[in-house]
Amino acid sequence: MPALNNAPPLYRGRFAPSPTGPLHFGSLIAAVGSFLDARARGGEWLLRMEDIDAPRCSMAAAEDILRTLEIFGLVWDDAVVWQHQRQAAYADALAQLQKNMQVFPCACTRRELADSLLAADGAVIYPGTCRLGIPEGKKAQAWRLRVGQASMSTAPIVFEDAIQGRIKSDLSRDAGDFIVRRADGVFAYQLAVVVDDAAAGITHVVRGTDLLLSTPRQIFLQQCLGLPAPLYAHLPVAVNEAGEKLSKQTLATPLDVTRPVPALISALALLGQKPPAELADASLDELWMWAICHWRLENVPRQRVLPAPLMA
Ligand code: GLU
Repeated sequence: MPALNNAPPLYRGRFAPSPTGPLHFGSLIAAVGSFLDARARGGEWLLRMEDIDAPRCSMAAAEDILRTLEIFGLVWDDAVVWQHQRQAAYADALAQLQKNMQVFPCACTRRELADSLLAADGAVIYPGTCRLGIPEGKKAQAWRLRVGQASMSTAPIVFEDAIQGRIKSDLSRDAGDFIVRRADGVFAYQLAVVVDDAAAGITHVVRGTDLLLSTPRQIFLQQCLGLPAPLYAHLPVAVNEAGEKLSKQTLATPLDVTRPVPALISALALLGQKPPAELADASLDELWMWAICHWRLENVPRQRVLPAPLMA
């Protein structure tokens, strides 16, 4: 749905899967929620393959995800953006941060940081070892963003999440100086996502609450790089019976491409959209028509909920 008169779109959303395996019910929630929020508001919905972490990603998984999205009727606008083709843009962003002294090289190994405090999402809260320079005899491995430095605002990052409400984070306490380029040379997810969302003109980011704690880091990076901040909405994530997030790590079952309608009905139910029983007999087109007409972001629950019996 291109914007009229070349005016910037009022709504440009995206879905950004990491092709580390097939789509499962957990990733379907993010795809469906971001797709419906965009389409219900006449917006665009773009697709970005987050294949930056080459050793964990594969072209076969990416192709499988694209095929599954098509079978599910999740049709995207424009060409797919592939992160592996965007290295130059990430390098430019890092160069800008280096020029402005907003990053510092870090020589700490994983083992040296093993006893550090952890952020709520499991990331290491950097103890600051290399902040003022690399200890003698050690070699720089990674680049970290300096958070809460004197030249930048030390005020907490505050944003209004359309589902989760007001979120406030003191980055020095909650995240610490975080990595923007890893020791193996791979640009970090946080940097790539901010650069890519800005380059694509994304206005709305709708994704799972598993990324809620990344958002203050990303907003801080946007401030450092002088990039606009999109609006955010974090969807509930699907969990298994043990209360674990459905993911490749928890061995979530891949979506059944022969039966997209029941999976989509379960996704709509988890997103609080109350699909009527008759939808079970609907075609894919009818289902999407109902879902786009009836999408209400305000009905999406905040809490983590178990997926409907689909998983049984
Ligand atoms: N690639 C990330 C994931 O699959 C999502 C990134 C995002 O939506 O910002 O978890």
